[in-house]
Amino acid sequence: MDFGFGLNPSSAIELDKQDLSLYDKLCRIEPTAATCIACGSCSATCTAAGYSGMSVRKLLIGLQRGRSQEVEQMLSHCMLCGKCTMVCPRGINTRRVILTVCRLYDNAEGML
Ligand code: SF4
Ligand code: SF4
Repeated sequence: MDFGFGLNPSSAIELDKQDLSLYDKLCRIEPTAATCIACGSCSATCTAAGYSGMSVRKLLIGLQRGRSQEVEQMLSHCMLCGKCTMVCPRGINTRRVILTVCRLYDNAEGML
């Protein structure tokens, strides 16, 4: 169907071609991660966000889109202070989510 406009190819994300296995595994281990509404409260309160770009919101969106390299870089800036967990309106234990994602990356590297 022609809508008279199209997506810039560099902005298009073909989910069918992305590896979403990390996000699927995360949601099996921490089902609350799937309830994120991307409100940004975690990013607004994050100790590391101001100088590193760390954000649980971006981390979850990155995993949903198969951007595992971006997520891995972000993880290295988290100080595990837990402030994001205190403000999440969905009650997601974001600190535990971060630790789980770290473990998933460690396991993935062990399988290489
Ligand atoms: S505060 Fe909670 S619901 Fe809001 S973006 Fe962060 S993880 Fe998602
Ligand atoms: S635990 Fe990590 S992501 Fe959460 S506020 Fe602290 S530095 Fe930011």
